[in-house]
Amino acid sequence: MAIEMPEWCGACDPLTRRFNLGDLEKRCPDCHPYWAFGHSSIDPTCVPATRLEQERAARWLMYEMVSLRALAVVELRRRTRAFFEQGWTPLDVIHALDFDPDGSRVRAVASTNDSADLLERRVLNLLSSWCDEHGRPLPSPSQQAAARNRRLRERQRLTRTKLAEIASRPPNPQGSARSGARQVAAEAIAKGRAIKAEGRRREQAALDRQQSDDVSYERRVQQTMRQLDKFRFGVLSGSSETAPRAKGDEHDHRAVA
Ligand SMILES: [Zn+2]
Repeated sequence: MAIEMPEWCGACDPLTRRFNLGDLEKRCPDCHPYWAFGHSSIDPTCVPATRLEQERAARWLMYEMVSLRALAVVELRRRTRAFFEQGWTPLDVIHALDFDPDGSRVRAVASTNDSADLLERRVLNLLSSWCDEHGRPLPSPSQQAAARNRRLRERQRLTRTKLAEIASRPPNPQGSARSGARQVAAEAIAKGRAIKAEGRRREQAALDRQQSDDVSYERRVQQTMRQLDKFRFGVLSGSSETAPRAKGDEHDHRAVA
């Protein structure tokens, strides 16, 4: 690893730069590279302006992204300087190493197994997808988000002023008459009534038809019964004891009908 080690303080483990406290391991605050280079003092959402700040930001990136550690700090600083000068923050660089400008995930991420020169090319590749055709960095992800936010706020402000303007207009009592809204409403009501009346008329017609069908059916049934009785009476009139039963049957049919 190309991590630059600060001078050993003499108190901690010289190899790991940690205090071995049994279950706990504690990074030495004086000579562990993670702290000694001011890692904890770096705000990754701030733009590093000076050369020293940019170098610190490069170190911060290395410690945050383990896969970058094969690079030399100066190399990473050189690669990211143009971005930092365009107002990129360390977090923007991390985003750029993970995503393409269109929001899709990058296909080849840097890995700890890569050799230093392959990693260099990969990082360069990933960062160059965030450059325009002249090699200048695009607006950073946070700058783009801020611009989107500004546009949204502007649209909301315009809508609000427009609505306030509409709300502040004095109400016009003749407005509905002038715009023809009353006319339209009256026509809609008349149409609705006509539709309802038409529906009722159809319903009544269907009921009447049903009733007349029932009556004619009943009449047909009775007619058939009478014919049947007449026929049976005609057949059985020869024998005297069956005739009364036929009369009784006829009576039953009448009752049913
Ligand atoms: Zn130490």
